[in-house]
Amino acid sequence: MKTQDYIDRESRYLAYNYHPLPVVLNRAEGCWVWDVDGNKYLDFLSAYSAMSAGHLNKRIQKALTDQLGQLGVPSRAFHTDKLGAFAEKLCLLTGMDKMCPMNTGAEAVETAIKAARRWGYRHKNIPENKAKIIVSSGNFHGRTTMIVGFSSDDLYKQDFGPFDGGFESVPYGDIEALKQAITPETCAYLTEPMQGESGIVMPPKGWLKQVQDICKDNNVLLILDEVQTGPGRTGKDFAFQHEIDSPDGLILGKALGGGVYPVSAFLANAEVMDVFEPGSHGSTFGGNPIACAIGSEALDILKDEKLTQRSAELGAYLKAELSKIDSPYIKDIRGAGLWVGIDIDPDKISARLLCEQLKEKGLLCKETHETIVRLAPPLTITKEELEWALGHIRDVLE
Ligand SMILES: *Cc1c(COP(=O)(O)O)cnc(C)c1O
Repeated sequence: MKTQDYIDRESRYLAYNYHPLPVVLNRAEGCWVWDVDGNKYLDFLSAYSAMSAGHLNKRIQKALTDQLGQLGVPSRAFHTDKLGAFAEKLCLLTGMDKMCPMNTGAEAVETAIKAARRWGYRHKNIPENKAKIIVSSGNFHGRTTMIVGFSSDDLYKQDFGPFDGGFESVPYGDIEALKQAITPETCAYLTEPMQGESGIVMPPKGWLKQVQDICKDNNVLLILDEVQTGPGRTGKDFAFQHEIDSPDGLILGKALGGGVYPVSAFLANAEVMDVFEPGSHGSTFGGNPIACAIGSEALDILKDEKLTQRSAELGAYLKAELSKIDSPYIKDIRGAGLWVGIDIDPDKISARLLCEQLKEKGLLCKETHETIVRLAPPLTITKEELEWALGHIRDVLE
């Protein structure tokens, strides 16, 4: 079969909820992927940061196959030898008290919303069914009907309603608006510490610290969605560590799964997590031994291979080199660690067209919102590979 045959078959049988670049992959190793014609590409998307440790990382592979020889998915009806160890490791790394394992990012966000509302009723005495959660404009927290209901993007929510309320949106990075929005019925502020899908949007410096102070003063939980910014991506283990000690709730996913399996978690302080009792929440696959073996290994790799430090150093280099590019298309370059957004002037060229041209050079990136090219290579990338990529990015942009 030819490239176009694979694409045509997908078009025939799949929901059209994605618009992939016209490349058909069938193999990967490290930072590289191959298409069915044998062409080789450097992966600069890393599965939206889910693949931080490199494709088919040997240690992840071993953790997975070892576990497959031991125990698969016994459900949470029984204890296993892996779950406690993974939870302990994750709590120690994040500084949070307890975790609740899920699979996808959206499920972990839903878990956070349930916990925040219950905490509001049981610890803040908010009247029944009145709890409000404040969110940020431009947010992305996943695709469930509840989550898209508080999105500010029509693309995500149009004609998926009715949405039942319980959320209020404030402009991202706006301290005054947050202060104004808080009422006695507010149980939590849920936000990304840096926005991913919105186009690698950085809040003003000092914002998160101020947010934490306001939340503390008003007895409002600060819940951070670090599904994308999580382990290592922004040059700290977690993005919140650029400004604060710890939030009240923390949502992780993507890279926790080592690039091979969905692993997510909601973490919180004990008072928040203890609102759950048996039967109140759960997941058939969440916290299964395979997920735990992979998640544990992903965290060990982060530490052993100093991925966070690599992200900080190589990310600073990437940003510095990008800012030297003299291009009529670039409006802005922003980001943290190996997580950079190039803001493209839509009057001159579309981000999609740039991504297609980069693909021709052997570099896979994906546009977000038509005007932003996101660069998020695996954190295992070498300086040589980065330089190779920069050469092509320079060529295309200049
Ligand atoms: C990707 C993402 C999610 C959703 O994760 P899924 O695994 O796709 O459900 C939630 N929050 C943020 C910040 C994300 O980037």
